[in-house]
Amino acid sequence: MLPTVPVAPKHVDDYAEAAGGEAVDRLREAAKPLQGARFLQVNSTAFGGGVAELLHTHVPLLQDLGIEATWALIEGDEAFFALTKGIHNALQGAPLDWGPDQEAAYWERIRANAELLAELADPFDFVLIHDPQPVGLILALDELGARGGKWMWRCHIDLSSPNPTVWAFFEPIVNRYDAVIFTMEDYRQPGVVGPHVAFIPPSIDPLSPKNAPLAPETVRETLIRYGIDPDRPLMTQVSRFDPWKDPIGVIDAFFLARMEIPDLQLLIAGSMAHDDPEGMRFLDLTEARRDGHPDVHLLTDLQGVGNLEINAFQRGSTVVVQKSLREGFGLVVTEAMWKGKAVVAGNVGGIRLQVVDGETGYLVSSIEDCAARVVELIRDPERRERMGLAARERVRERFLSLREIEDHLRLMASLG
Ligand code: UDP
Repeated sequence: MLPTVPVAPKHVDDYAEAAGGEAVDRLREAAKPLQGARFLQVNSTAFGGGVAELLHTHVPLLQDLGIEATWALIEGDEAFFALTKGIHNALQGAPLDWGPDQEAAYWERIRANAELLAELADPFDFVLIHDPQPVGLILALDELGARGGKWMWRCHIDLSSPNPTVWAFFEPIVNRYDAVIFTMEDYRQPGVVGPHVAFIPPSIDPLSPKNAPLAPETVRETLIRYGIDPDRPLMTQVSRFDPWKDPIGVIDAFFLARMEIPDLQLLIAGSMAHDDPEGMRFLDLTEARRDGHPDVHLLTDLQGVGNLEINAFQRGSTVVVQKSLREGFGLVVTEAMWKGKAVVAGNVGGIRLQVVDGETGYLVSSIEDCAARVVELIRDPERRERMGLAARERVRERFLSLREIEDHLRLMASLG
């Protein structure tokens, strides 16, 4: 069997306060027809990145709802994850050297994973595959004659303008699925024909260590522990060191903003995901752009930055930025909004579902724009607070876990 990820138990009723009692009732209603169903979800990493984050909440909540939920990981070596990272970027439009060798390397690993899955694939009623890395499992299991249940593919990335060669390889695979889920309609490729295509944005867990309330002293202490002055303004971006997240643009925006706000500090915190070998190289590039500046803090999980620290950094920030150039959704934006922060974020992809420009934060399209909005917000505490409150409300209504799980369950029930 593929390695499974153990999850800590969670209880739906505990979410009533954050999400509202009505959201709990709706979710229970949606779970009724699926009692006892065996539901497998598969992705490529238990740590780092948005999908792992979601699954640590969804799987235990599904279990609490009476569904037999399991989370399994596909296995791969560094070369495989370098290839799938290339695929991930290519499906968001980047170039990739793709031909028979790459296809063969992809299938070799996927077939090995399918054999491990075949031992247990049959008894599952529903299988939800996350992102491109494991998407080929469906075909490999069909080859083995070992596929059972309804299969759904959840595409977390922006598939609106994929590299045509790479997409030509994946399209027929995707079309084998009983249902395909995109974050938003813009991400659907016309070649994805269904039979079911659903649009479901992701969500955050308001009770996770990353999002639960924190005492102000803890926030202060955490900032101080990492050499950040809690009494000076702080601009923060939390994200992987990745070209799409534009950490270098963030540093440039910081240097511009600092011309207006001389005591401004910048923090970029990013974890090094296990399936992201490119991260280290991009951290080095970002470090070079920082050029030893004492008020630019670059931190990673290698310095002990975990969920609690991210929580404290987001809460302790004067302004949160997410200057992405491409963004499937941007859970970090949701997390900061839930903490009552006005977010200055790239006017791209799923960020546009979240940030209402001028109401819950600002959408920006350049380094100059980003710097100007940061300066504006830092100078206007009242506006920050007003936008922050609106941001939190928007997340409560649309982007908390219970709503997303409910959407999944309704889709599953409709597949019968
Ligand atoms: N994250 C984290 N530590 C970090 C950087 C990111 O825990 O140093 C988390 C972040 O809080 C968020 C997720 O990783 O929950 C990133 O999801 P997002 O959708 O923003 O981007 P992705 O990495 O999936 O492209």
